[in-house]
Amino acid sequence: MTARIIDGKTIAAALRTRVAQRIAGLGVRPALTVVLVGDDPGSAVYVRSKDRAAQEAGIAVRTICLPADTPEAALLADIQRLNADPAVDGILVQLPLPPHIRTQAVLEAVDPDKDVDGFHPLNIGRLAAGAPFLVPCTPLGVMRLLEAEGIALPGMRALVVGRSAIVGRPLVALLLAANATVTVAHSRTRDLPDECRRAELLVAAVGQPELVRDNWVRPGAVVIDVGVNRRADGKLVGDVAFAECAAVASAITPVPGGVGPMTIACLLENTVTAALRRRAR
Ligand code: NAP
Repeated sequence: MTARIIDGKTIAAALRTRVAQRIAGLGVRPALTVVLVGDDPGSAVYVRSKDRAAQEAGIAVRTICLPADTPEAALLADIQRLNADPAVDGILVQLPLPPHIRTQAVLEAVDPDKDVDGFHPLNIGRLAAGAPFLVPCTPLGVMRLLEAEGIALPGMRALVVGRSAIVGRPLVALLLAANATVTVAHSRTRDLPDECRRAELLVAAVGQPELVRDNWVRPGAVVIDVGVNRRADGKLVGDVAFAECAAVASAITPVPGGVGPMTIACLLENTVTAALRRRAR
């Protein structure tokens, strides 16, 4: 079998167009503020892409750049100001933060109604309780890919490899809410290849280059690769050995061009969700 390649760039572009159309219909521009602390080059690239995509969709975006030695208290005070500002719909604090700042304290300081990354404990709890509001963008992007591909999730045997707070765990909750039969694997899982072979939907969110091999994949399975890893030779690869697994799966995401583009598209979707909720009040 040769798998269908799931084209995240095209699906993300369609989602961004839908978001832009919703915004045009609103008559008001949702406002997103991105807070960047320090000068991590990777973070600066991400923030620029978010800025560009938000502007293109009709979102008013502002980036606050703070020096790397900003005290935690000053950052928390800035977040409180943004929480209180009625002109701000969404707040995103770019991670990672410098080591002297407690990431969890910062994430908990963001108003849950403006928490477009979906990292506030209240939003995590809402998702876990089956009543999601703002959901982390990467797992939401995986769900939007599966919807766009018409994958029928009810009853499907799904395995999520990885249990991080930003990808694996929220994805487990979303797949469960979509009535898949979900198993989660992690670094302590016994016989991971065997667990993978049972899965009709295999999602890898691990951070290990090309961990998943062809003989781990059930013939005809749908394979979603969240991983983004730089190999020693400089090539960007996922957590799945793409070419060999594509010969076994029925559908598979490439890296790059699979899940990656969906993350920013879902940030835009979350910003509109937050703006609509605030305006409805
Ligand atoms: P993370 O916080 O490091 O979590 C990795 C998870 O994988 C952990 O649960 C860990 O298990 C598990 N794991 C590690 N090695 C394993 C192994 N050999 N076998 C089975 N499980 C293993 O990473 P993350 O933030 O979730 O990110 C995962 C990957 O997705 C990374 O490559 C990251 O770059 C990528 N990512 C992509 C996007 C995007 O937009 N495309 C967004 C976010 C992340 P334990 O819990 O037992 O330690």
